[in-house]
Amino acid sequence: MEGMERISIPTPFSVGRVNCYLFTKNGLTVLDPGPATEEAYEELERSLARFGYSSSDIDRVLITHPHMDHFGLAHRLVAESNAHVFAHEDAVEQLSDPIGYFEKEQEYFRPFLLSMGMPMDTVDTVLELPEPYTEYQDPVTVSHELAEGDTIDVGVELECLSTPGHAPGSLCYLAKTEGIMFAGDHVLPDITPNPLLTLAPGSEDERTRSLPTYLESLRKVLDTEVPFGYGGHGDPISTLQNRARETITHHQERKERIADLVADHEPTTAYQIMKEMFPDLPATEMFPGMSEVIGHLDLLEDENRVVISESDGVKRYELDTQQYE
Ligand SMILES: [Zn+2]
Ligand SMILES: [Zn+2]
Repeated sequence: MEGMERISIPTPFSVGRVNCYLFTKNGLTVLDPGPATEEAYEELERSLARFGYSSSDIDRVLITHPHMDHFGLAHRLVAESNAHVFAHEDAVEQLSDPIGYFEKEQEYFRPFLLSMGMPMDTVDTVLELPEPYTEYQDPVTVSHELAEGDTIDVGVELECLSTPGHAPGSLCYLAKTEGIMFAGDHVLPDITPNPLLTLAPGSEDERTRSLPTYLESLRKVLDTEVPFGYGGHGDPISTLQNRARETITHHQERKERIADLVADHEPTTAYQIMKEMFPDLPATEMFPGMSEVIGHLDLLEDENRVVISESDGVKRYELDTQQYE
């Protein structure tokens, strides 16, 4: 695509490099600058210099979703350039106060994870592990809050598609005339994005039902029929529609596997299911693991296939056999 460049930015995270996209035909626009590290900053500066720019020339910073590997560096770029910052309205709170938001989530998820059957010491470990990583992001003020259907002229018209699920406020940017979607982490070429549990936007005591929401957002990608994708990690996606369908199928298969595990162990907790499903999961992966399992239990609940009982503050799941009688 003319007037667009993809830059691969290093991150300190296990996901590896993150993709940053430059648009150069109507001023200078940076989509997802990367995390707040010196390495990321230097890589971006070197890449900008290759095209005759520096970070002080940036007019706009576009953010796909409020994860620090994507937006962490935005604050520094804005300080140098006075660039306008664009993100979905549901991402604004987390972007403007990432540490405060993280602490609010820790507070909510402590009792929540206990209610899902996770032992207390594991809960403490799981919730404290991400603390050292919070330094890779700086608060950034969003100057343009985006919603579904909004457009931005970056030399080509980008239209916003609201795709919550992997993160609240996840946005895909569609260059319809080019048949291209800048998909953030919503659709990725090699990995299945995790439907991470978070607080519901604007709430302190309600979580997102991330996986059902995520699958709805994947169906929106199918509705666009846009053929090509540029994701937040990895190579360009030459068959975006196939990749979205594959991801839906992957989740349908996993949901059936989790239904079988519930049947084998009922009544059982989400934590027990996670241990069955991923026996050797390191603590660093347990929050994503729980998000995945609870997401599938949410789907089964939405389909009236499980009943949930609660005793001693712990929720247990079993298959709803009544509907077969
Ligand atoms: Zn992400
Ligand atoms: Zn990412």
